[in-house]
Amino acid sequence: MKKADDAGSDQFRSIAELLSSTYPEIPTHLINQIHLTRHGPGCWDWGGYLRDNGYGQKWKDGRLTGSHRASFEYLNGPIPEGLDLDHLCRNHGCINPAHLEPVTRRENNLRGLLTHINKSRSAMRTTCRHGHPLTPENTRHYKGRRLCRHCARDRYYQIKREEKQNGQVA
Ligand SMILES: [Zn+2]
Ligand SMILES: [Zn+2]
Repeated sequence: MKKADDAGSDQFRSIAELLSSTYPEIPTHLINQIHLTRHGPGCWDWGGYLRDNGYGQKWKDGRLTGSHRASFEYLNGPIPEGLDLDHLCRNHGCINPAHLEPVTRRENNLRGLLTHINKSRSAMRTTCRHGHPLTPENTRHYKGRRLCRHCARDRYYQIKREEKQNGQVA
């Protein structure tokens, strides 16, 4: 357990170094608060204070602001008035400027709503897309998604069959 933690912090240090050399505009104190990604590829997870809604918070120029906004502004300058930053990765704790896009509040709310609808839709599904029932016995949970064991088995045998056929041809 201890060993894994050590490896993690080593990896973290090298990522922090990589980030400061790639983005010299972003202050080190901000980069030092980024955690190793637990979410989407390339996410910079904020390691400081998180609000209930999952957004990070930090002090900037004497006022409390979203850590994602701070990170974006260090790189791109002030966010135009009336615009929100939309997380393209849908990970609210992420402060990678490349994952952020300024949009109007209305558009941002709409995008969030669509994600919510899609999530609850797939949570309500009782069969996989090939029609196998998603019973507890047939369901494997992976990163918050439900996967069909039946389909996984089919894919496994399909690969085995193809390997066998290729073997006979050669
Ligand atoms: Zn992200
Ligand atoms: Zn299936």
